[in-house]
Amino acid sequence: MKKYDVVVIGAGPGGYVTAIRCAQLGLTTAVVESWINDEEQPALGGTCLNVGCIPSKALLDSSHHFHHIKHEAGEHGITVSGAAIDVNKMVARKAKIVKELTQGISGLFKKNKIDWLKGRARIINNKEIEISPQHETHDEKTIVEANSIVIATGSVPTKIPPATVDDKLIVDSTGALKFNEVPRRLGVIGAGVIGLELGSVWNRLGSEVIVLEALPDFLALVDRQAAKQAEKVLRKQGMDIRLGAKVTGTGCNNREVTINFEDTEGKKQITVDRLIVAVGRAPNTSGLGADDCGLEIDKRGFIIVDDQCQTSLENVYAIGDVVRGPMLAHKASEEGVAVAERLAGKPGHINFDTIPWVIYTWPEIAWVGKTEEQLKADGIEYRAGNFPFMATGRAKAMGEATGFVKILADAITDRILGVHIFGPSASELIAEAVLAMEFDASAEDIARTIHAHPTLSEAMHEAALGVDGRTIHM
Ligand code: FAD
Ligand code: AMP
Repeated sequence: MKKYDVVVIGAGPGGYVTAIRCAQLGLTTAVVESWINDEEQPALGGTCLNVGCIPSKALLDSSHHFHHIKHEAGEHGITVSGAAIDVNKMVARKAKIVKELTQGISGLFKKNKIDWLKGRARIINNKEIEISPQHETHDEKTIVEANSIVIATGSVPTKIPPATVDDKLIVDSTGALKFNEVPRRLGVIGAGVIGLELGSVWNRLGSEVIVLEALPDFLALVDRQAAKQAEKVLRKQGMDIRLGAKVTGTGCNNREVTINFEDTEGKKQITVDRLIVAVGRAPNTSGLGADDCGLEIDKRGFIIVDDQCQTSLENVYAIGDVVRGPMLAHKASEEGVAVAERLAGKPGHINFDTIPWVIYTWPEIAWVGKTEEQLKADGIEYRAGNFPFMATGRAKAMGEATGFVKILADAITDRILGVHIFGPSASELIAEAVLAMEFDASAEDIARTIHAHPTLSEAMHEAALGVDGRTIHM
């Protein structure tokens, strides 16, 4: 029986990063991965690279270009006639990016001498893992031995009985990345991160998008100021967002989907050409053998871990989407690095208070730390500095002057407690705020930091000045 220091189950951003760091630290490492891609080939990279972060951003970028050429280029004096979208080419470009990146992981595995064990893992006990081949091959089941096991089996789209995915007219987030034409009318169930991003892609390409969200508030977890502005802007972009609208049933003929939903006014029905079900993601422990090996799982299906990612089984760790905390790729990777370091006898560090969030609508929404609503609920006295992109030269020059940066700082110590951005390239700008919070910086630290002119980052500088009532350009 082959024996390793570490066997990682799952090669998403949690698992593959864990494996690379383990190997760098001198641990003999293998990764069990069962993913089969659209070309019927085994693939590394998990949800993030194959059907998540990367392909969605590829389509968001393509659709952003198209929308810009059609609707905004004129403002710059550029006339473009006959702009058209070739959906199959756009989707093929996305597939090429995915292929290059997933093959890149395979290259990193070779470089770091990590064994890729193709197949599905079942934990027998805290030292042994059984691997079943994924394809109908003549391969036998194998068993490998490990001193430590890291579970990084990720998550899968949540299913809801009223809208069964048929991968034809009703799709989940995976199906929504490979439509072969722009649907004329597109329904989206769920106004969460994934629903808004995928809805944005097809809205920019010309679909009439109707988003049905059961909750009465738009982006309930997001800072209210950011959520309200985003809701207004997305509606203006043409997204028909219906809040407090709970989907109760669907019916399909060969061409269309009828959606039944209820809102405060009563029962309603709409008809669309395609429907995306984007109602969240569920932790994936199927076939892992948790019950048999005594691995504890909570009521919602997450593997129970402590803040060191230690499970109920000795020498077995779990990270990423399959455990508590935000379902974000960078959170999964950071947990993986921390576990790898601890396995090699080093201190592993994760600061759960400084995990950035991004929603890649346009403008983007990004934040780190607490919202004003959370600070109020916790009874923490704070001061807010708020600065609109409209007042920054660079944003005006770009024609992207929607949104703001808001910094929330402790009223007594001035320590930064949260930063919220709705605006162009918020996903990039938030990094400064994360770094500041990691260093326990005060708003004054950002206020004293010289920001290049003209840049979007000047809005961060001005918001920091604003905490102390010293903004210059407002
Ligand atoms: P996963 O990436 O889900 O990987 C788990 C892997 O484990 C899979 O490859 C699976 O095949 C394998 N596996 C499972 N069980 C077994 C088994 N028994 N044996 C062998 N292998 C197994 N996050 C962001 O941070 N930014 C974004 O922009 C973003 N965009 C997203 C867009 C979409 C459309 C979706 C769906 C998700 C997005 N996410 C984003 C979320 C992100 O993809 C996840 O948070 C991330 O992939 C979690 O990483 P993970 O390693 O925990 O799990
Ligand atoms: P997220 O978990 O951020 O991906 O968001 C998923 C969203 O889907 C949540 O805001 C849920 O309220 C919403 N949702 C779940 N079930 C339904 C339903 N039957 N009808 C409408 N919205 C739903």
